[in-house]
Amino acid sequence: MHEELKARIAAAKSKWGDRLTILGHHYQRREIVAFADHVGDSFKLARDAAASDAERIVFCGVYFMGESARILAKPDQRVFMPDIQAGCPMADMADGEDAELAWTRITQANPGRNVVPITYVNSTADVKAFVGARGGIVCTSSNAGKAFDWAMERGDLILFLPDEMLGTNTAIVKGKQHIALWDPHAPEGGVTDAELAKAEVVVWRGYCHVHTLFGLEDIKRAREQHPKATIVVHPECLPAVVDAADANGSTAFIVNLVQETPPGDTIVIGTEINLVRRLAQSFPDRNIVPLSPSVCPNMYKTDLKKLASLLETFDERLEVTVDEAVARDARLALQRMMTL
Ligand code: SF4
Repeated sequence: MHEELKARIAAAKSKWGDRLTILGHHYQRREIVAFADHVGDSFKLARDAAASDAERIVFCGVYFMGESARILAKPDQRVFMPDIQAGCPMADMADGEDAELAWTRITQANPGRNVVPITYVNSTADVKAFVGARGGIVCTSSNAGKAFDWAMERGDLILFLPDEMLGTNTAIVKGKQHIALWDPHAPEGGVTDAELAKAEVVVWRGYCHVHTLFGLEDIKRAREQHPKATIVVHPECLPAVVDAADANGSTAFIVNLVQETPPGDTIVIGTEINLVRRLAQSFPDRNIVPLSPSVCPNMYKTDLKKLASLLETFDERLEVTVDEAVARDARLALQRMMTL
C-alpha cells in the first residue's frame, strides 16, 4: 500500500517538476519528510515559501504554517495542504477580537507607555494582522530573543501571544522581572490595572499540549536513567522544565545540538516524538532518547494517502486562502521578522 502511494507521489512530483515545491515540517511523519523539497522548522519554511518561484506550494504542516506561506508567497502562486483540517490548538487559543480587547485594556492601564505586540508564528493570520497593524512583529522559537530586543528598542511593554511558555521563558532570559498573565477567558483578563502598570511583559494564556506534557518527573527519571546525558527541551515547555533541563531551544537548535554531540553520547530530547525518532534514525551512533513520547496529532494528520491525492487532483478545497486585508497587515509583521 505504502509503496503504491509512494510511486503515485513520485510520479506526480516528476510531472510537475520545478513548478511544484513541497515544504515539510520537522514534526511530519518520516515518509512525508522524504518527499519534501525543503524540511525545517516554521521559520526556515516561511523563508523557503517566500523565496520559492514554484507555481504551486504544498505545505505539509499545520494550518497557520500554510497561512504564513500564502501570505509570503507571490500573488500568482497557489498554496495547498494535504489536510486543510490540520490545525494547531495553541494558535486557536487567540483570535483577533480577543487580542483587540486585551490591547484596549492594556494600553488604557498604561498611559504614556508604548506597548509593542509580538506574536509567535504559531498564531492565526488574524492575530498576525492585529500585531502588524500595531507596529509589532512575528517571532519563532529560534528568534524570540531577537524579537524581544527589537520590541524593547521601540517600546517599554511587550504583549506576547499566544504562547505563555515561550513568552515567559524568553522574558526570563531577557531578565524581565515583571511578567503579567493575560487570560482571555477571565473577566478583565484576570489581571489588575496595578499588575498591568507594573508589567514589563504581558503574556497570553495559551500553550502547546504537546510540550506542556513534559514535567519535572520526566527530567528526574531521565537523570536517573541517563546520568551523563544532555537534556534539551523546546521553549514551549513549562518554565520549570526549561529551567531543569541542560539546554533549551528551537527545533533547529535541537537538530544542531544533536549534530554537534560526539558519537556515543546520550541526548534526551523534550519535543515532538516524530522529530526525536527521525533524529535517532539519522544519528544511529548517538543515543537519542525521548524525554517522554509526545505526539502532535495535528501534524500526524498528513499522510501519504492525502499527499498523493492532493498532488493528483489539486482539489480547490485544499487550497489555503487569506483575506487580502488580513494578509496585508499580517505580511508586515512577518516581514519584520525576516529582517531580524
Ligand atoms: S506541536 Fe504544539 S504548537 Fe506545534 S503544531 Fe502541534 S499543537 Fe501546535
